[in-house]
Formats: sequence, structure tokens, C-alpha cells
Amino acid sequence: MDLGAAKRIVVKVGTSTLTYDTGKLNIRRVERLVGVLSDLCNSGRQVALVTSGAIGVGVGKLGLGSKPDDTPGRQAAATVGQCELMFIYDKYFGEFGYPTGQLLITKDDLENARRRGNLMNAFERLFEYGAVPIVNENDAVAVEEIVFGDNDTLSAAVAELIGAQALIILTDIDGLYDRDPRADADASLIPVVHKIDEEIMALAGGSGTSRGTGGMLTKLHAAKLATAAGIPTVVMNGQEPHDIYRLMEGHRFGTLFTPEK
Ligand code: GLU
Repeated sequence: MDLGAAKRIVVKVGTSTLTYDTGKLNIRRVERLVGVLSDLCNSGRQVALVTSGAIGVGVGKLGLGSKPDDTPGRQAAATVGQCELMFIYDKYFGEFGYPTGQLLITKDDLENARRRGNLMNAFERLFEYGAVPIVNENDAVAVEEIVFGDNDTLSAAVAELIGAQALIILTDIDGLYDRDPRADADASLIPVVHKIDEEIMALAGGSGTSRGTGGMLTKLHAAKLATAAGIPTVVMNGQEPHDIYRLMEGHRFGTLFTPEK
């Protein structure tokens, strides 16, 4: 499967990739990631970035030590962290000549036909203007009933909304393994998955880190959504963002989930 031909791409980056254990941003990594994504734009592609990290970075900035247990605490941390995230993204993308646009989305924005249409128009116009849409869940208002809860699912929904030809989910593990690689040294990476069935779903454990939300399960849900919409999805390690170049050149990285149609 040639991902290099994809013109419109959604890249999702998780908290564990963006931040250190301290909760502070991994500036070097963010800078490299933005460099790669800007270069993809230079090559004529359109890139939307779905970013997590608002809560994690907010916790770091407010000196809270760990994620608050209650919803208002997490909401407040997210609002603080989101500013910091956008500040850094805007600064780095700006260095490469790309303006950024912030889109904070909740699940019901995508379920309501009118708001969905509005959102689609905003994305289209941002691409037309040569800006990079940067998406997160609107954590300040996304309480339980309307929450995506994880940005993996959100990234798949965005990829479907904007008709992306590829979804790349960056995480802190190399891809999907046949066993838990953190517990079993003999675990091996599964390079390609053609069908996300119950057997595949059973390979995913729970949440990955204390800073992030997802883990492999939500990535599989996302891949299932995206591949059902015809979008090839790659789950790969985000620690070296330059690997995205090689992926686009046809090298195998992480686990590729092939589209169903
Ligand atoms: N929206 C949350 C944040 O920015 C992250 C959700 C997730 O980790 O998937 O902190």
C-alpha cells in the first residue's frame, strides 16, 4: 500500500509522545514533528494535526503533580495546557511559514449535521489558505455524555470528516504486538492487519501511561473506524518524527491497518 500518494493526511500525536514524565513538553520532539509536517505541506500535501497533551501539559504548568481526579480539575488543566500547546505549535509552524488554526471539537459537533457541515467548511478553508488545522477535543465542555474521551477516536472521526487518504497515529510503542511487549520479551510486532476482528481487539491491553488516555485499545477502535471509511491507518512510534518521511517513502513502520473498501 503506497501511503506516499496520500495528499490529505491526519496525524495524531499523544501525550506520552509530546511530554516528558515531568508533564513538561518534549520541545525537541515537538520541534522535529512540526518540521516534518511542514515539509509534508511543502511537498504539496495537506496535513491536519490532532494533538493530545492539553491536560498533561496543564498539569505540568500548574505544578499539580498528577492529573486531577475530578472533571472540573481536568477541564481547568486542559484549558491551561491547550494555550501552551498552541503557543508552541504556532511558533514552530510559523518558523516554517505555516499559520495554524485551532479547532476544539466535541462528539456532538460531529453528530449534529449542521455543525458538522460548518466544521467541514472551516477545515476546507484552512487548507485553501495554506494553514495547518490543529485539533483537540474541547475538554472544557466535553463532559461525559458528549465526550470522545480519547483523541485516537477523534482523529479517526476527523480523518473521515475531511476525507483524508491516510491516518497516522503516533504513540510511545512501535505498533500492535502479538503479546504485551512490556511484559513479554518474545512479543513481536504485527506489520499489517487486514481485518480488525475480535482476535485482534483482544491483543490490546488497557490504557498506556498515566499521562495519556488511550492505550492500544482506543487505537484499534480508531483504526477500525478509519479503515471502515476507506482510510489506511498506521500506528507507529512517534519518538523519532523523521520516521514519517520514511513511511511516506514506502518503508514499513509500525502496524498498517489496510482499508476495508
Ligand atoms: N484531549 C485530551 C488532552 O488534550 C487528551 C485525550 C487523549 O489523551 O486521547 O489532554
